[in-house]
Amino acid sequence: MIDRRKTRQVVVGAVPVGGDAPISVQSMTTTKTADVEGTLTQIYALAAAGCDIVRCTCNEEEAAEGLAHIVSRSPVPIVADIHFQYKLALAAIEAGVHALRLNPGNIRKPAHIKLVASEARDRGLPIRIGVNAGSLDPDIAEQFGGATPEALVASAVRELDYFREVDFDDVKISVKASNVLLMIEAYRLLADTVDSPLHLGVTEAGPPPAGLVKSTAGIGTLLAEGIGDTIRFSLTADPVEEARAGRVLLEALGLRERKSVDLIACPSCGRAEVDVIEIATAAQRALEDRKIPLQVAVMGCVVNGPGEARDADLGIAAGRGKGHLFVKGKVVRVVPESEMVQALIDEAEAIVAEGIDARLAKADANAEAIAAAEREQLIELRGVDVNHSLDKIARIREIAED
Ligand code: SF4
Repeated sequence: MIDRRKTRQVVVGAVPVGGDAPISVQSMTTTKTADVEGTLTQIYALAAAGCDIVRCTCNEEEAAEGLAHIVSRSPVPIVADIHFQYKLALAAIEAGVHALRLNPGNIRKPAHIKLVASEARDRGLPIRIGVNAGSLDPDIAEQFGGATPEALVASAVRELDYFREVDFDDVKISVKASNVLLMIEAYRLLADTVDSPLHLGVTEAGPPPAGLVKSTAGIGTLLAEGIGDTIRFSLTADPVEEARAGRVLLEALGLRERKSVDLIACPSCGRAEVDVIEIATAAQRALEDRKIPLQVAVMGCVVNGPGEARDADLGIAAGRGKGHLFVKGKVVRVVPESEMVQALIDEAEAIVAEGIDARLAKADANAEAIAAAEREQLIELRGVDVNHSLDKIARIREIAED
């Protein structure tokens, strides 16, 4: 269990952030916000993928008008992203958004900042202070010799001080950077400095797989230390990928209840009796679509597969033209290879409907014996030494003696 840092709580629409609230997943639409139908289509897709809060840019008057239509039809709270023009923050508030994100690096006049904070205070809206290493206030960058962790935190604290001058501190804070180590150090320092809930992200992480790896390294490291109350993967990809990645990370760390399948699969090797990639991909798609919250294993051979995946709720391992379907490590059925994916899906649905014990009680009485015999046959046929190591060692010695 991760011991989470204690933070204050803010509420975005109906979603609490901070305190003992579950860590929420955020993403951002890539449509023009003025395109109401297109933006709502993306928001619905994000919500279906597990996104709790969606941000839309409010970069022009038409976007603010779009938001006025979007907020009432959105299934999740909407945050308006504001850059440079404080009047667009006021317009977004008027549109009925559930929160704002302000970048202290590009709305700099204290009077403007305090005016927006006062309006948010009066309407009960939280604001995210979204510091970004790439657009840091120039005077702070100069003072600290660049975008250092101290500079990012100083920018956030200065904005917070302006807010407090008008008696407003209903805030979340982010100090994002595209450099993972800088981002980690900045958030650690921020966590020691304020008790506000923190929004984690590696900015401009790029396309997958690099973007996923960088985001997971940064966000995952902090979450494991108990830091972070809401997260966003910033990928150069369909935002649905961001939402999925956020959910998977939180579920993997035990920070959110499992809602979707956790598919584990062996990497495959010379011993594999099937195309593991093909079967695992087909199973992942089918189980994800059905929202089955189980750990499911796809293993390339029956020699090692069932043992290595014995903790999975269920799994399938390939024999000679057959699949051994196992539940909690016990083989419950042996099916033809062509039916492996379907058998996995059927059993997963049956477990969700009836429970693991009921399914174990309905196991084919002969399955374990059939599976054991086939496993022995395979070991006899292929040998336990899949790498043919004795032959190779003999060859290596011949080469050395030449
Ligand atoms: S389960 Fe079998 S096929 Fe998969 S990696 Fe292990 S030994 Fe290889």
